Amino acid sequence: MQNNGYEEQNINNVQDILGKEFKVLDHGFIRLLEIMGDDSSICQAARVSYGKGTKSVREDRALLRYLMRNAHTSPFEMVELKFHVRMPIFVARQWIRHRTANVNEYSGRYSEMTDEFYLPQADQIRTQSQVNKQARSEDQLDETRANEIIEQMKDSQAESYNEYKEYVAEGVAREIARINLPLSSYTEWYWKIDLHNLFRFLKLRMDHHAQYEIRVYANIIADILKQILPISYEAFSDYILNSVTFSKSELFKIKDSIANFDFDNLTPENSNLSKTEIAELKNKINFIKQL
Ligand SMILES: Cc1cc2nc3c(=O)[nH]c(=O)nc-3n(C[C@H](O)[C@H](O)[C@H](O)COP(=O)(O)OP(=O)(O)OC[C@H]3O[C@@H](n4cnc5c(N)ncnc54)[C@H](O)[C@@H]3O)c2cc1C
Repeated sequence: MQNNGYEEQNINNVQDILGKEFKVLDHGFIRLLEIMGDDSSICQAARVSYGKGTKSVREDRALLRYLMRNAHTSPFEMVELKFHVRMPIFVARQWIRHRTANVNEYSGRYSEMTDEFYLPQADQIRTQSQVNKQARSEDQLDETRANEIIEQMKDSQAESYNEYKEYVAEGVAREIARINLPLSSYTEWYWKIDLHNLFRFLKLRMDHHAQYEIRVYANIIADILKQILPISYEAFSDYILNSVTFSKSELFKIKDSIANFDFDNLTPENSNLSKTEIAELKNKINFIKQL
């Protein structure tokens, strides 16, 4: 990329963020430890087959957006990020399902577990959702009951931690002493992932279907990416995060309502779409019309 202040600004943003601790939940955090590559590394990788030289930021942005829109994902794998994350074990269990990362976790066999446990805020103590079997609803419990539940959770966390400490003091192996500690215990790990797979993680875990307690971590990672990989994040936000897929039967339902829309008069000036995007939109509309 041509150095018109963009690169310098970006280096400053990275320096400001590297190592900085972003607090999450009551005892958790996220720190970005290292990053390999930036927006321009993705474009360089994409252009390698053509052997083309340096391009302007505007051309890079267009290329990056084209890659994202068309699922040309491997150039995004050229950027690698390493985080240090501290989260409750029930969050870690969801997080670890994203297999395309490298993880090294705190060992409760090797080291003593800490006495820090997650306690939800009263406004997160909600009733079971009636529409989503996995989720909480929007309905909060009344404050008195919510606070009672929080106190009970706190007491049982303290009780199981006291037992744990007794076992350890007695000489019981840490790997056995820990097995009755609750899922609300905090763990931590180093987590390294490439940008393509990080975007997949964010798409799933920023979604409102994801549990609140992992969503807050995903949202912080997104805020970090906005600052250090602004062009990639913008493309992700436009084409993946804030896009939806329609099924064939859903498209049948919307077919009639788009029949009379005048797509022929769309221009980059009146639509906020590039020429290529307008052509792509027309192809999509024709696809729906032919259903
Ligand atoms: C809201 C929500 C609810 C969920 N509920 C449940 C649940 O109830 N129970 C449950 O068990 N899980 C649940 N999950 C986890 C979910 O099923 C996925 O395992 C998780 O989101 C990781 O997604 P992924 O496979 O795309 O990610 P990754 O593991 O990072 O994989 C990324 C891509 O690489 C491919 N890939 C990775 N490893 C391999 C491999 N070895 N072979 C072939 N392809 C591979 C994947 O197919 C995927 O396309 C839930 C996830 C979400 C977001």
